[in-house]
Amino acid sequence: MTQNTHQTDIHQTDAIIVGAGPVGLFAVFELGLNDMKAHLVDVLERAGGQCAELYPEKPIYDIPAIPVCTGQELTDRLLEQIKPFNPVFHFGQMAERLEKLPEGTWRLTTDRGTVIEAKVVVLAAGGGSFVPKKPPIKGIEAYEGTSLFYAVKKRDAFKDTRLVVAGGGDSALDWVLNLQPLVKEITLVHRRDDFRAAPDSVAKMRALVAEKKLNLKIAQITGVKGANGQIQALTLKDDGGEYDYGCDHFLAFYGLTMKLGPVADFGVALQGELIPVNVANFETNVAGVFAIGDINTYPGKMKLILSGFHEAALMAKKAFDYVHPGRKYRFQYTTSSSDLQTKLGVEKEEKAG
Ligand SMILES: Cc1cc2nc3c(=O)[nH]c(=O)nc-3n(C[C@H](O)[C@H](O)[C@H](O)COP(=O)(O)OP(=O)(O)OC[C@H]3O[C@@H](n4cnc5c(N)ncnc54)[C@H](O)[C@@H]3O)c2cc1C
Repeated sequence: MTQNTHQTDIHQTDAIIVGAGPVGLFAVFELGLNDMKAHLVDVLERAGGQCAELYPEKPIYDIPAIPVCTGQELTDRLLEQIKPFNPVFHFGQMAERLEKLPEGTWRLTTDRGTVIEAKVVVLAAGGGSFVPKKPPIKGIEAYEGTSLFYAVKKRDAFKDTRLVVAGGGDSALDWVLNLQPLVKEITLVHRRDDFRAAPDSVAKMRALVAEKKLNLKIAQITGVKGANGQIQALTLKDDGGEYDYGCDHFLAFYGLTMKLGPVADFGVALQGELIPVNVANFETNVAGVFAIGDINTYPGKMKLILSGFHEAALMAKKAFDYVHPGRKYRFQYTTSSSDLQTKLGVEKEEKAG
């Protein structure tokens, strides 16, 4: 597996995958089984998309045959699974421009000047480039990344601190429940006493409040005080007026803004911020350009990781026709095909066993 850093070369490959989230990663596997190599581009610095960026330590329970794994574990397992196909990653780069060359090849250019050419393009861009909504508090940017966070990347960073979590949705409540045993003091702040999070989480949160293990403040956060990136207090405003509330860390869950970004200008038909596809092969209205995972839409679509995995398999079957014209696609099982097992690097003894 290579992480490419040469931005001036023109890379030739079979498939360009925009987005290295779970679905983009699994697409490498399905393409690889069918003799197609892939380059992936992601604006984030690492693989995993939402799983690695938004909930790396949260458990996922609905991946077939894996009763439980965290977002990061799923990413790591996918990276392990696709190793035999040597994908090339272009991290920290926005896929910015897509054009069709006269000979029918696609050319993708990133914001850092990387150019990749391939027979097919797979848009696995999820919700697009997603950014957290910032709290509407003057001067809050000065604390970002040091004492204000929009996601939890390492639970231990909050150990023995006074933590304020803001928000009323699943992310806010999940992290309150998850971090409560770890911190010195924890406070949940929400503007009204009504929570959008799962009822079970709300019940658990209220039980912690009753046991005095969690402070609940129904208030708005209107200001921040501190120095050198370190928050000392947040200003809370409720019916009684404004007051300062001391804390060390502030986790803000005001929701996410997902922006389709440059993919909107790639020339494929859009339905809002999503890309309609043919459900037989997950091709867009443009031949040779596919859309899989959270980015696509079709009747009955469910934005689940397993849906994206299924879509990747059907996409690869159709992509084969573009990449290997004249060759006949052969349906094979990994359990019984020695051809597929060779591609996967399975040893002779394992095959026999
Ligand atoms: C808190 C939370 C919990 C969840 N729990 C579950 C669960 O339990 N089970 C489940 O099945 N699903 C769950 N999901 C949903 C699941 O994470 C998504 O369905 C999945 O991540 C979609 O994968 P994807 O690869 O399509 O897109 P994403 O994971 O969104 O990855 C897309 C990638 O594309 C990149 N990108 C976008 N545009 C560009 C561009 N122009 N250039 C370069 N890179 C670009 C982004 O940076 C991103 O890394 C959860 C989501 C959240 C937020």
